[in-house]
Amino acid sequence: MKLIVLDRDGVINEDSANYIKTVEEWKAIPGSMEAIARLNRGGFRVVVATNQSGISRGLFDLETLCAMHQKMHKEASIVGGHIDGIFFLPHAPEDKCECRKPKPGLFKEIQARMSSRLEGVPVVGDSLRDLQAGASQGCLPFRGKNRQRPCKPLKSTRQNSPKAPWCSTT
Ligand SMILES: [Mg+2]
Ligand SMILES: [Zn+2]
Repeated sequence: MKLIVLDRDGVINEDSANYIKTVEEWKAIPGSMEAIARLNRGGFRVVVATNQSGISRGLFDLETLCAMHQKMHKEASIVGGHIDGIFFLPHAPEDKCECRKPKPGLFKEIQARMSSRLEGVPVVGDSLRDLQAGASQGCLPFRGKNRQRPCKPLKSTRQNSPKAPWCSTT
C-alpha cells in the first residue's frame, strides 16, 4: 500500500486564525472528503499530521480534539473514504519539543507507527512547515493552498506521483 500524509487545517478542513476550537468550527473543505476517498481507491493509505497547539494554549481539550476527529472519520466514511491514522501534537512553540512541525518528530512517529519508510511519500500542506517536516524524512512535498488553482509540486515529481486531489480541476 502506498501512503500519503495530509496536513489537517487548511487542507482537509477550513482553517481559522482563531484556531479550530470546537466540533462545530471543524468544517470540511468542500471536496476534501471525496478526495480522500479517491486516494483510497487509488491504493493510498491516508494519514493526517497536524500541529494542535490550541491544546497547550488552553483553547480546547483533548476530548474536543477527539470529537473533531470522530467527525472527520465519519464524514470521510460517508463518502467511502478512510483515514488510517491521525498524528497530532498538543505542544506550543514555547514547549520546544521535537515533534511540532517543522521539526521532524511527528513524521518519525508516522514512519514508526505505519511501518513505512517515508522516502517519496507525498506530503500535502498549506504551510511551509508541513513540507519542511515531511522533507526531513524524504517526503515529496505538495503545497495544497489556493485550491482553485492547479497544484504545483515544489520539486520535480516522479512518475506516478499523485496530484494533490483538492487541486484537481476536474
Ligand atoms: Mg495547515
Ligand atoms: Zn511536540
